[in-house]
Amino acid sequence: MCIFCDIIDKKIPSTAVYENDDVYCFRDINPVAPTHVLVVPKKHYEDILDLASKEDADKVLGEVSRAISKVAEIDNLGEGFRVINNCREFGGQTVKHIHFHVIGGLKLTEKMI
Ligand code: 5GP
Ligand code: ZN
Repeated sequence: MCIFCDIIDKKIPSTAVYENDDVYCFRDINPVAPTHVLVVPKKHYEDILDLASKEDADKVLGEVSRAISKVAEIDNLGEGFRVINNCREFGGQTVKHIHFHVIGGLKLTEKMI
């Protein structure tokens, strides 16, 4: 279906950080920081607008927030980190399977907002 579906199905190898029935968290192939983990719902939604239109949006976003917390614990990000979701073309989304970048492991200085 898409490259992240293939990663979730283990048809493409990746470095797992945390996994449960609903989400898969793995290291980005092109990291921009010491921690750069992608938190990905296992069910395929194209983007956050697609997810928001579905009945299970609340559950999926709850699972995402708990997975982010697990990743932060595993990678010792207690001092802080950034979560980024790029949505569609103007947001710079390149993989059309919703995902949240968890970036940390250093003090992030460049801020757009
Ligand atoms: P986006 O640009 O859609 O917000 O983020 C897609 C991310 O997926 C990029 O940071 C890119 O490096 C990562 N990525 C693309 N293909 C692969 C892959 O095959 N394996 C892993 N681990 N990350 C990938
Ligand atoms: Zn997919």
